[in-house]
Amino acid sequence: MANPTPDQLQQAHKQMREALQKGGLRRDLQGRRSADSKQRGQADKEFNFDEFGRKIPKPTFLRPENIEKGENYDVERVLYTTLGQQKGDVPRKITREDIMAFKDNIDLLREQYSTGITIQNIINLSHADDIDRANEQIHLVVPLSRKDSLVHLMTSAGPHSKVTNDHIEIEFSSFSALISSTGQNAVNQVKRWLAGGKIKFECDCERHTFWYRYMATIGGYGLGRKENGYPKLRNPLLSGVACKHVLKTVYWIQSPSGIEYLKKEVQKDRTRQLSVRKKQTDRQILAELDQQVSAANKETDGKIQPNIRKAEQEMIRRAAKVAKKHFAKQQKMERQPQDALDRNKYAEWRNSGIVTDEVFQELMRRFK
Ligand SMILES: [Zn+2]
Repeated sequence: MANPTPDQLQQAHKQMREALQKGGLRRDLQGRRSADSKQRGQADKEFNFDEFGRKIPKPTFLRPENIEKGENYDVERVLYTTLGQQKGDVPRKITREDIMAFKDNIDLLREQYSTGITIQNIINLSHADDIDRANEQIHLVVPLSRKDSLVHLMTSAGPHSKVTNDHIEIEFSSFSALISSTGQNAVNQVKRWLAGGKIKFECDCERHTFWYRYMATIGGYGLGRKENGYPKLRNPLLSGVACKHVLKTVYWIQSPSGIEYLKKEVQKDRTRQLSVRKKQTDRQILAELDQQVSAANKETDGKIQPNIRKAEQEMIRRAAKVAKKHFAKQQKMERQPQDALDRNKYAEWRNSGIVTDEVFQELMRRFK
């Protein structure tokens, strides 16, 4: 994995500076949000496909009420999923077992995170692909403003990005507790309480929107628009956690300059808490960018290290639950012809007096 070249860094720096000069970054975020809501509204009316692959107008979202039905789900609606499919396979029709599997996946997430998710967990459970992209494509991240516990940040544009910059919001669950903490060393606790504590997050990119927003919604660590449509095509196993922008951002939060920023912000609110939006000045933003470029040039800022073992374990845990259901059904089906033969055989034994009625009852017990 190559470090960004000085050229790439310079490019990212220039692009961020220009975005800054253009101004209206906050408006930009709001505009993007309303576009997302609009797009989501349209997607609700999206086309679906019938048995022959023809488009039929039908809502394709799998609603919570459908999943809640679990075993009683009536598969009258034609929905498709990629669950259990290999990469490149055509999505297949959703079955009742899928619904049960989805329900399990949801319960697994729900039990795990109730008030946010730690940065360490985000990194541990992320896809190696997302981490690679964060390391290779997103060179800079900078805080733009903060209101109470909610920080608005921006990353430099990735190589294939349709929009120039992505906006990320992070909410620190322990921020207000830290502000009102009476401990003398409250500021020094930033590292443990904020960088090490639970957060909620969102990003305005497509990866977050289509892969991870649903998980963030039901996991309770999402911000902004709630997504209640199960990502049955893109992420049926509900694996991964965060996009490259969020990964780069949380990594920065744990870096010395991220900690430094948070310390200053905590100090501000401890001195005078007004609950207004506090913007970083252009000068502060540029200073932060300069520092990141020089650190990256000196290769002093490390890379996000994937925890492949942890991520795999989690994937396997979820997949195993899904597989167990599928296999149980499959085995039962496979066993059926043999079972029928055995039943007949036992009945013959009893009828011809080879076994007593008691033994026969005993033999028949395995079919109950
Ligand atoms: Zn993103």
